[in-house]
Amino acid sequence: MENLFKIYDLHKYYPLYGGVFRKKVGEVRAVDGVSLTIYRGEILGLVGESGCGKTTLGKTIIRLLNPTAGHILFNAPENITEEFEELLENKDDDSQKRLDEIADVYDISKFKGRKLKALRRKMQIVYQDPRTSLNPRMLVKDIIGEPLKIHKLARGSEIHEKVVNILRKMGMGEKHMYRYPHELSGGQRQRIAIARAIITNPEFIVLDEPTSSVDVSVRAQLLRLFQDFQKELGLTYLFISHDLSVVEAISDRVAVMYLGEIVEFASAYELFKNPLHPYTKALLSAIPIPDPKSRRIKIILKGEVPSPVNPPPGCRFHPRCKYAMDICTKEKPMLKEIKPGHYVACHLYK
Ligand code: SF4
Repeated sequence: MENLFKIYDLHKYYPLYGGVFRKKVGEVRAVDGVSLTIYRGEILGLVGESGCGKTTLGKTIIRLLNPTAGHILFNAPENITEEFEELLENKDDDSQKRLDEIADVYDISKFKGRKLKALRRKMQIVYQDPRTSLNPRMLVKDIIGEPLKIHKLARGSEIHEKVVNILRKMGMGEKHMYRYPHELSGGQRQRIAIARAIITNPEFIVLDEPTSSVDVSVRAQLLRLFQDFQKELGLTYLFISHDLSVVEAISDRVAVMYLGEIVEFASAYELFKNPLHPYTKALLSAIPIPDPKSRRIKIILKGEVPSPVNPPPGCRFHPRCKYAMDICTKEKPMLKEIKPGHYVACHLYK
């Protein structure tokens, strides 16, 4: 499979200021050393409890947030990513020079100004609640057509034509063009948000809890819409959700995040059939089973999620893990491939 993104050791920290002189007194480690590959044309699910850094990771990948450290190679050919990985290991001046040359073309974490603006067209985001993400004072036609104007992709009647076309694809019509968001249902508003995201023909979309503000029947329609667009337009999605049943149904692969780190990563089938990390097992044990005769023992996690300002040393999950050993409090477990394509960060697996 072709790589769309190769992400290396990505960090996003938010500074905390305090005292009379508003000095920096600490930092929130929202994303703390994430390395990840996203393949072109896949749906990558991202799960974890609220506040684990899922949304921050999504926004940092598409550069709505500036990363604190790390590299995000976008659309880099395989030979370039291999060379880049080798160069990251070497610290000499020649390696750094070549690293900078590659970064200049492919590492979007360093992009600024015009290069960053050009990138925006290729990457979009759909938020959880369209009531807050859509401008209430704009008509539907202007909301959907605005990105075409910003990126100078169409003018005048061409914009009108494109907006009508995309509304039809969304199962809506011309009559919806002259309405305001508050005149639409929740499902229709989310369709407008999706139309706005795909009208620029992007390559990658972050779907941030896109179905959590709608009811079950609309949820099924939206999921079908995402899948249809993915096939028709060759899109790649990062699908962020706390609804594990939805993630299982739609994703090709799934990453599990805990306190700013990826703790497990596998194909959706493998992860839901054979979870390895104690945190993943606890998360999956909470999914309701539709068959009333079947029972699943729910694993109750002890304690609260620790603060990302001062995360526990060693394995960040150790204060809540019933398998915690001495080593877990001292040594951070690295993400290791336990089976082909199945990665886990846990000292239980050597
Ligand atoms: Fe539990 Fe230790 Fe594994 Fe962390 S590394 S999940 S504390 S067993």
